Amino acid sequence: MTDLRVLYRGPLSSCNYDCAYCPFAKHVSDREELRRDQASLERFVDAVERNTDQTFQILFTPWGEALTHRWYWRAITRLTAMTHVRKVAAQTNLSWRPELAKRAVESDAARARFGLWTTFHPTETTVDRFIEKVRALDGFSVSVGIVGLRENMGYAEELKARLPSHAHLWVNAYKSDGPGYYRDDEAERYAMLDREFALNNVRHPSRGKPCRAGTHAISVNGLGETRRCHFVDQVVGNFFTDPLASLLNTEPAPCPNETCGCYIGYVHLEELAQYELYGDRLMERVPRTSRSLRVLETA
Ligand code: SF4
Ligand code: SF4
Repeated sequence: MTDLRVLYRGPLSSCNYDCAYCPFAKHVSDREELRRDQASLERFVDAVERNTDQTFQILFTPWGEALTHRWYWRAITRLTAMTHVRKVAAQTNLSWRPELAKRAVESDAARARFGLWTTFHPTETTVDRFIEKVRALDGFSVSVGIVGLRENMGYAEELKARLPSHAHLWVNAYKSDGPGYYRDDEAERYAMLDREFALNNVRHPSRGKPCRAGTHAISVNGLGETRRCHFVDQVVGNFFTDPLASLLNTEPAPCPNETCGCYIGYVHLEELAQYELYGDRLMERVPRTSRSLRVLETA
């Protein structure tokens, strides 16, 4: 059976960090938002638990930071104990104590199903503190990312040199100001640090191209509203209440958008063959081998 990849994002939209460019740093969640976030997450986990005929890979993609809230750790404990859940991963700033992960995911079997997509934020922590936490997570599947701004190059190089071998470094190519941000030598330096950088440094033309978002992947929000991905607005049904089969296409459908520029989107484009590249660590963004440059050359 093919795993269904589910991206979940609840109502939470706040963070304990204060990155200058980020809207979630400015928002303070009130009690009501936190209560709704917790209740939504429980409904999400209940729905996964009911759907035992399907195998899942799940990624939490919160607006803000989720793992500072105990209900996410409870959800991770429940989900990693389900045999039809092959992977549970979360995007996180890694500001929390590593003991929380060790306590939530205790057995070897559960730990094998858990992944962490972490991001280093240079204005909010130090390389030393961050690496200490990554070291404490030896035995976990961990990726470490950084925004590929020009001024972050030195941090990225230091991370690459000092990260323990169980952590994979990726660089999110800066594309907000359109293409052409990097000089050739800068793009080459980042590509030396992250073999997949060149693929990430492209907004992939996607209109009309077959995409596995909708057949092999869906996006679910805190109301259960389900879309094929985070970037296509059309709601196809409700993950909490509808039969799962009714939410899925039977064949990869054409993308309605001009381009797809985020890892959590373009990995589902058939022609990029990213499922094959990442295997069972797609959710936490750890590649098996580098084939992306060849994929780009032949696409
Ligand atoms: S850690 Fe992430 S979510 Fe939090 S303020 Fe920084 S960029 Fe925003
Ligand atoms: S290519 Fe990207 S935007 Fe288009 S359907 Fe797939 S994931 Fe969504």
